[in-house]
Parts: sequence; C-alpha cells; structure tokens
Amino acid sequence: MSEYPVPKSGVMKISAYKAGKSVAAPGKTAIKLSSNESPLGASPKAMEALGALAKNLPAYPDPGSTALRKALGDVYGLDASRIMVGAGSDEILHLLAQAYLGEGDEAVISEFGFLMYPIVTLGAGAVPVYAKDKDYRVDVDAMLAAISDKTKIVFLANPNNPTGTYLEKNELLRLHKGLRDDILLVIDSAYAEYVSAPDYGVGDDLVMASQNVVMVRTFSKIGLASLRIGWMLGPEKIVDAINRIRGPFNVNFAAQIAGEAAVRDVEFTEKLKAHNAKWRDWLSAELSGNSIRVIPSQGNFILTLFASEDHAKKANMALLANGLVVREMGAYGLSNGLRISIGEEKAMKAVAKVLRNMDLA
Ligand SMILES: *Cc1c(COP(=O)(O)O)cnc(C)c1O
Repeated sequence: MSEYPVPKSGVMKISAYKAGKSVAAPGKTAIKLSSNESPLGASPKAMEALGALAKNLPAYPDPGSTALRKALGDVYGLDASRIMVGAGSDEILHLLAQAYLGEGDEAVISEFGFLMYPIVTLGAGAVPVYAKDKDYRVDVDAMLAAISDKTKIVFLANPNNPTGTYLEKNELLRLHKGLRDDILLVIDSAYAEYVSAPDYGVGDDLVMASQNVVMVRTFSKIGLASLRIGWMLGPEKIVDAINRIRGPFNVNFAAQIAGEAAVRDVEFTEKLKAHNAKWRDWLSAELSGNSIRVIPSQGNFILTLFASEDHAKKANMALLANGLVVREMGAYGLSNGLRISIGEEKAMKAVAKVLRNMDLA
C-alpha cells in the first residue's frame, strides 16, 4: 500500500500545459502575441450582452446552452441537436478522451499537434502515438501508418497549432477513409474563422455523413477566451455520450449570452478575418529572409523558424525588450521556433522592425 493517494499512471507522465506569457521586460507594457488571442478583441455586441446580464443575473445557467446552440445552428446552417457546448474546447477534448479512451488504448497525434491532445490522452489512461509531419504539415500516410488495433481516437487540428499548416478537404477525406469505423476522428477546427484557403473544409459535412467524426470549435480565438466557450458537432450517439458525462452546468451563463451575441455578429467575425489575413500575409513576407523561415499559415499566428535554438532565444529576448511577448516553442520540440500571433497593425510593425534589424545569420 502506498503512503499517499496515487493518481492513474498516465497522470504523472503529463507535462502540465504552460499558458503563453504576458509579461515583458521590466518597465515595458506587454503586447501579448503569445496565445493566439483575437487580433481585435471581442465582438462589441458580445460585450454589450455581458453588460446587460450584470443587471439581471439568473440563478443557474441553462444546462442545455439552448440559445447558444440555436445561434450556432442558425449561423452555420447546422442541426442544433447535434451540437454540445463546453467550457472551452479543452473541456470537450477531455470529455471525448474520458468517454472513448481507457487503459491500454492509443490516440494518434501528429508530430507537432496541439499540446492538449497528449494531456487528455494520458489523463484518460491511454497512450499518445505520434506520426511524423512532412515539412511541418500533417502527413496523412504517416497518420494512417500509426494506427494499430489499440487506436481509439485520431486527433487532428486543422489548421494545426503551432505550425499553422492545414490539410485540404481531399486529404481530410482520405484520412477518414483510411480509419476503421470504430476509430473516432476528432477534427479540431479552432482556427476555422481565419482560414482563407479555398480548398479547406471545416469538417461539418464529414461529421454529418459519418458515425465516427466530430468537429470541435472554440470562441477563444475570436475574442472570448476569458469566458471559456467551445462547441462540438457530432453524430447523435457521440453527442449523447458526452452529454452523459459532462457537468450539467458546465457552461456559465455569461459565456452562453456572450457567445450567442458573438456568433450572430457575423460582421465582426468577417472584420477579424480580413484584418488577420492582411497582417498574416504582411508579416509573413516581412519576416521571410534574414535567416528566418516562415511556415505558411492559415491561422491567426505564424510559426517562424530560426537557424538554431540560440538564434530563436536571441530573437525572443529582443522582442521582449521591446514589450513584444511571443510564444517559445520548446514544449513542442521546436526550440528553434517562435510562434507569433497576429495582432494590431502597430504590434505587427514593431515585430517586423525588431526582427528585420537583428543580426541572425
Ligand atoms: C487554442 C486551441 C484550442 C483551445 O481552445 P479553448 O476553447 O480555449 O479551450 C483548441 N485547439 C487548438 C488547436 C487550439 O489552438
């Protein structure tokens, strides 16, 4: 017998998720470009709805997030009964892992896949199995080769964080075609609002046409990260399973109210997308060269790769000295990389100025 309570073996193998930093050099106001936050904050309509809520707060939130699910259904043309809402998509990823993974099972994850996937996998007692990327892009053949008899879930962020690369609709379909019917494909479309590639598919039609695919989305990258709102579109059986294990009041009422207003504020989402596309292109072009490689991105961030870890560290120090906080990539095994979220014009120009004027050769 142990002298103290011992968690399931997978739990202690988890490296706890480290959130993006928000402090710069002493005396400098930090401009945070480290958590893929919205480049322009939240929808003004969402904030207005929050203000009104403060004057008339109900006792409990709606356990079914009914109005928010209806808004998502209306705006995206989806069946609201096939949607469930979570406290951030991170909660939904945890719930999926709890429901579909157990001791001895495996989950397939791409080489530079989002760090929450191994965390939820290990937390459920299962084992993450990694498939190599091809030049920083998910390799469908490698993903399929990583499947074994023990595989229960395949996690795919599309576009992926932190690489910013994406799989075209055809490639997504090919990945799905290669999976057994009892393997759950989790398509994490966290950056869907920012994608401009015409051959991208968000995944909703694949969900509706099969029994083993879910699409997970979030409000965090469009300005509501502080309220924690994520949602999932899934087959009836999977939505039912997840609704059985989630907390009955998992999404607080402020999140539901603000989320509903934000999703209906299509004009603001369009504005975010246009701003992001413009400055993502601009910053990518500005930073390419000077011994920096920019991986082409469809998200609201870019991954920059330097000649070495030392060069990346030096670049990061120079950015921090100017109040610019970006994300170090060591936790992803990309220690020569920095991930820079797209922000306001002033921030983008400041980043370009610092990195272009450095000696990085
Ligand atoms: C940011 C991010 C999420 C997390 O979203 P929350 O809704 O804030 O939990 C999920 N997946 C990917 C790929 C992300 O980058």
